[in-house]
Formats: sequence, structure tokens, C-alpha cells
Amino acid sequence: MTTGADLRSRYQVVVAGGGPVGSLTALELARSGIDVLLLEAAPHTTDVPKAGTIHARSIQLLTRRGHFAAPDVGSGAVSTTFHYAGVWGLEITAPPGEGPAIAGIGQSDLERLFTARLIGLGTPVLKAAVVTDVVQDDAGATVTFTHEGLTRTVTADWVVGADGARSIVRRSVGFTATETAPTAAALLGLAVLDDPAGAPRGWVRTDRGWTVLNVNASGLSRIITFDLGSPHEDHRRPLTAQELQETVDRFAGRPVPFRHARSLSRFSDYSRLVDTYRLGRVVLVGDAAHVHFPLGGQGLNLGIADAVGLGWRLALVARRQAGPSILDDYSRERHACAAAVIANVADQRERMRIGAVGDRLRTELDRLLEDRNRNRALGSAISAQRRPAPRALAHAAPGDFAVNTVIETDTGITDLIRLHATAGSRGLLLCGNAPESARALVDTGWGERVAVIRVRNLETDVLVRPDGVVAWSGTCGDGNELSACLAETFGTGDQIAEPPFGLMACPTR
Ligand SMILES: Cc1cc2nc3c(=O)[nH]c(=O)nc-3n(C[C@H](O)[C@H](O)[C@H](O)COP(=O)(O)OP(=O)(O)OC[C@H]3O[C@@H](n4cnc5c(N)ncnc54)[C@H](O)[C@@H]3O)c2cc1C
Repeated sequence: MTTGADLRSRYQVVVAGGGPVGSLTALELARSGIDVLLLEAAPHTTDVPKAGTIHARSIQLLTRRGHFAAPDVGSGAVSTTFHYAGVWGLEITAPPGEGPAIAGIGQSDLERLFTARLIGLGTPVLKAAVVTDVVQDDAGATVTFTHEGLTRTVTADWVVGADGARSIVRRSVGFTATETAPTAAALLGLAVLDDPAGAPRGWVRTDRGWTVLNVNASGLSRIITFDLGSPHEDHRRPLTAQELQETVDRFAGRPVPFRHARSLSRFSDYSRLVDTYRLGRVVLVGDAAHVHFPLGGQGLNLGIADAVGLGWRLALVARRQAGPSILDDYSRERHACAAAVIANVADQRERMRIGAVGDRLRTELDRLLEDRNRNRALGSAISAQRRPAPRALAHAAPGDFAVNTVIETDTGITDLIRLHATAGSRGLLLCGNAPESARALVDTGWGERVAVIRVRNLETDVLVRPDGVVAWSGTCGDGNELSACLAETFGTGDQIAEPPFGLMACPTR
């Protein structure tokens, strides 16, 4: 375990916050060979009753990045039923060869997995290190933190703020955000139910409010209440077991006794989305960048895609193989996804309202769910598979997510996910045509960043980013367009001229 004495004064990247998203971001960077330090406020990972739904696109990303085992490419499409606004009947489908449509994995388990792998790579992970300030200038970003009663500083070329909803990194650096005020009040806790068999299971609505119970007959059950009528009077007031019990009983319309309540907290439908994910040398991921009502289990899933979208790009920039503008591509792409989630969460909240308006919207939702195409479109959005849209490799255009498929190379039969996992943070240039000229082009500067693979029976050649998104499709022999795309996506191959960090538009203090 890293101690304060092990630290150096400078790193290429400091990641502030080692929750599930910060630990994944640091792991992505470390696996790309970046000299990274992770600072985490908590002394150890605790089990929190939060994210447990890992959606299809997150699974697809984590298998491509080698964090989850690759699925069997011969497996068919997998569908599962989920809810929208508490109404069951939403169909979520993962394409063939892409694994399950949903995985039930607690966010603390993900955090433990990523952190253990980071430590296994020899990456310094300092626990009980509370970041208190970040200041940046032309020479670097200085992170101030407290650890074992001492105030310390460390400097980095880049800082990633992964320190959650109340992010000190976001506030120190002055990121602006678009917010919506809370209109609803939710309570959360874990407890042992006295009568698990008789408790209201799952999402239950009465004319007073919603209860959501994940019943565990032999241990702690997760208990949530949603009051869609008004926000918390004081959201900072600690929640007591008595208030949770009274609220559950009132909303259920009968006593639902429980004991040993713990992990009690309040949350709301307040939303915040930063206007840009990068200011100068500081980049945000996860809840530090976006928060919203946790309907549909989408917050952590957004963060997983942030980490995967940022890792390979920041590695290129930290090595000065690409300019910071590729981080602005990250910001644009991820901002659009978070904005779409915030919109669908607000839509779900309106459909959950108690009363005539909510009833009308739920009736409309019933009709929508009966329409197969609209149902599937909604399922794609909730599972983060709508943007970027999945497409078979043979027909994939720039901006699409290339779906797993069998691939025959010179060395045998494999599939797209396994090629990604082997290539690590390199892109894949899959060539059915003129692979020699493609290899010659890539060797002029992108050899470390792009793996050229000769593929049998591929009519259109494709360049796929490490996060599965198609960057280019065409014919490898037509070098100019491909060369421009390689430069745009993976950097020019030259050292970036000073000033390297685009600090002109960056506020410094
Ligand atoms: C009831 C509930 C259910 C949810 N269910 C789902 C779900 O099913 N699926 C889903 O996708 N999402 C879900 N979410 C949302 C999900 O929990 C969050 O999106 C997720 O925790 C974000 O991860 P993160 O790493 O960005 O932030 P966090 O999990 O908040 O981690 C931030 C880390 O930074 C550390 N930190 C904070 N401040 C500092 C500091 N100053 N210095 C150093 N470290 C610091 C913290 O200790 C923490 O470890 C749910 C949320 C709630 C409330």
C-alpha cells in the first residue's frame, strides 16, 4: 500500500477521487504506461447501496478494454426486461456476441476490482488523502491535499477530477455548470426487514408516493422512497431510521417494519452538468461532471464511458503525441451523452408523479412500451446504446459503435472484442485491402498508437478507436483521408509545439 513517504513531487497525471470512475480512469492511464497518482479521501472502500445496474454499453466497453472477460462471439442477442419510470416492460437488448444486456454488479465491487488491478500494476494509490485545492499555470497543475494530519502538494501535467458530486476539483478550478433545482425528495437506507415475504417488493406506487425495496430475505434489504411532490426541506439534515420507517409505512399504506437501519441518506432530482469537461490541464469524469436523479441506473454507466473515453486520449496527450484538442472531443461527446441522460431522467420523473398528470403520462407510457420499435429505442437510450449507435462492422460509418463480429486474420479466427483487448489503448486499423500500404502509412508516426490488422473478407476497411467507435471507413490504399483521420484521432506523431496545453482560455488563480 502506498504511503505518503512513497510519493514524488511530480506526476504526469494525478487523479483526484478513487471511486469506481476515478479508479477506472487511473487504471486506463496506467495500462497505457502513464505515470499516474491516485488520491482518494476514504481510508478504504465501503459497500454503498448505490449503483448495481451495469448496462449493456458499459459491459461492451469494459470487455473491449479487457476489464471484463470477453463474451462468446457465437452467442446470440440477449434481451432482458427493465423498467422506465418504475413501469416494467422496457426491453433492453445487447447485440449478438456482446454479452449480457445488464449485469448486476455493485459499484463498490467495481471500485475494488479496478483499484486492485491498479495496485497490481505498481501505481501509487494514496488512501485517506483529501484533495483541498487545485491551481494551474503554464508549468503544471498543483494539487493540495491533506494526509495523516499533514498538508502536502504534488504537481502534475494533468489532473483528473473524479471526486464525485461535491467535487472540490470542479469548484477549485471554476468549472461552470447548468443546474436544475430539486422538486422531489428521496430517502435511502439498508435494513433488515422483519417480514421479508410480506414486504412490498420492487417499484410500488400508491397515491402517497413510491417505495422501492430490493428485498433480501436473509440480510440487509435496500429501501428507497420517492416523494415526487416536493423537495427536502433541508437536504443536509441527517436521515434517521425513524424518518425512513415512517415514510415507508406512509407510502406503503401499512407497516413495513425493519431494524438495524444503516447507510441512511437523502437524495433528490437536482441535476448539474458542467458546460465543458476540460479547463486547461484539468478534466472531469463521472459525478464530478454530471449528477441527476438515479432513475434507470445511468449515473455510473455514464462515468464508465467517461473513463474509457478519456483514458486513451489523455494518455496520448500526456505523452505529447496529441494536442489537447482531442480532450475537447472527449468533452463534446460525453457532454452530449450526459445531457441526453438528464433529459430522459426528467421525463421519467414526470411520469412518476402522483396525480392526474402522472396518470396520463403513465397511460401514454404503457402504449409506448407496447410499440416494439419505440420500446427498443427507449431501451437503447437507457442502456447507453443509442449514442454512439451500434452497427455491424461491414456497414459501420464514422461515429458508429462497431459491434463484435468474427474476424479472420493471418494468424487465425478471432473477434473484434478480443482484438481490442489485445491492442490495449491502441486503435485498430482493420484492412481487407492494401494492408501493406496501410502499415507503411501507420509506420510513419502512429505505429505505437494503431495496430494494423489484415482481415480476410472485409470489403470496407475501418479504423476503430480503443473505445469501439469507428473513426474512419474507406479503402486503405487511399492514403490521404486515412492519414488526416489518424492525425485527428491519434495525434500528429510529432511532439506538440509549445504552448502544449491550450492554456489561453484557462482561468488561473
Ligand atoms: C440510490 C442510488 C442508486 C444508484 N444506482 C445506480 C445504478 O444502478 N447504476 C448507475 O449507473 N448509477 C447509479 N447511481 C449513481 C452512481 O452511484 C454514481 O453515478 C457513481 O457513484 C459515480 O461514481 P464516481 O466515481 O463518479 O463518484 P463517487 O462514487 O462519488 O466517487 C467519488 C470518490 O471521490 C472521493 N472523494 C470525494 N472528495 C474527495 C476529495 N476532496 N479528495 C479525494 N477524494 C475525494 C470519494 O471518497 C469517492 O471515493 C445511483 C445513485 C444512487 C444515489
